[in-house]
Amino acid sequence: MAKLVNRFEPAFMEQSYVFEAVKGMAITSRQFLRNLFGRRDVVTVQYPEVKHPYTPRFRGRHLLTKRDDGQVRCVACMLCATACPANCITIVAAESSDHDIEKYPSTFEIDLLKCIYCGFCEEACPCDAIRMDSGVHSVPTGNRRDQKFGKINLLELAKLSTASQGGEFRASSHEGTAHGRGEH
Ligand code: SF4
Ligand code: SF4
Repeated sequence: MAKLVNRFEPAFMEQSYVFEAVKGMAITSRQFLRNLFGRRDVVTVQYPEVKHPYTPRFRGRHLLTKRDDGQVRCVACMLCATACPANCITIVAAESSDHDIEKYPSTFEIDLLKCIYCGFCEEACPCDAIRMDSGVHSVPTGNRRDQKFGKINLLELAKLSTASQGGEFRASSHEGTAHGRGEH
């Protein structure tokens, strides 16, 4: 059954807007004077010197994990790229020289300008090769090209994978070391 909602009818004083504008200016002035001479409840922070703490739920930008021997964990199965709704993951698969590994990504690139940080890539990965638990915010850049993060950028925050081939998980995880740039 439809519910009737009474339409708000502004009074004459409200319709003239003069009284409302004066009221607004009074609130603004009160806040200004309070911040100037008394209680400082401004929410502005002096970024970048001061940074707002992130919520504990913040996960951060993508990283690729590594195997125990330091190789990239990804096996270029393309599941993350297939699941990505923004179509922003580009992977070029290459044959691995390691006989136990069929493929590895010779190119792994994420266009962070297209990414919507949905986490589907992380969910889709069957071997814990891509994660979004770096705790690092995406950096602003001066041009669009620098927002395309390649394999080395993703490995800079690399962690050792806690997974082992076949779906078993090790009891503990270890932090990996940062890599230098240069590979894509
Ligand atoms: S977080 Fe979502 S949009 Fe971004 S790369 Fe992963 S699947 Fe694509
Ligand atoms: S990151 Fe995971 S899902 Fe994506 S290609 Fe590599 S192994 Fe497959």
